[in-house]
Amino acid sequence: MKITWEKTFDAAHFLPGHPKCGRLHGHTYHVFVEIVVQGDEDLWLERHPHYLMDYAEIKEIVMELDHRLLVAEDHEKIRCGKASDRCRIVWDDNKGDHLIELPQDDIVILPITDTSAECLSQYLVERIRIELQAAEFTSFSVRVKLKETPNTSAEAFYGI
Ligand SMILES: [Zn+2]
Repeated sequence: MKITWEKTFDAAHFLPGHPKCGRLHGHTYHVFVEIVVQGDEDLWLERHPHYLMDYAEIKEIVMELDHRLLVAEDHEKIRCGKASDRCRIVWDDNKGDHLIELPQDDIVILPITDTSAECLSQYLVERIRIELQAAEFTSFSVRVKLKETPNTSAEAFYGI
């Protein structure tokens, strides 16, 4: 069984050290998710008699990123500090430090090394993988294609 889901979302990010993308900027991302389950039919039929995974579960994971500033917590040039309900982010782009302070709700701090389309698509694959394993699926694959612009995309995979 294969299901697919796609949607656009808007987010801001920056890639420290990149000559152009080191500056704060945004994209309308287009995300395409494909989940294939082989076997386990009894499991998903028992879980939801008429569908494999509720699209709302995928939507919830992806839309956590919508209309937020995406920050890669594990990037060596980014420092994140939290104080009460605010976040202070500092990053070095080789031309000097950038500093931004926003309410925590405006920022998503992600456990990844960069917010490139490659790292973001891998992050989404991992989140969906964890969701499927928590639902006790054992034999499945996940593919996430993430388009940053009409001309560029990255695709990450898990499984089969
Ligand atoms: Zn970008």
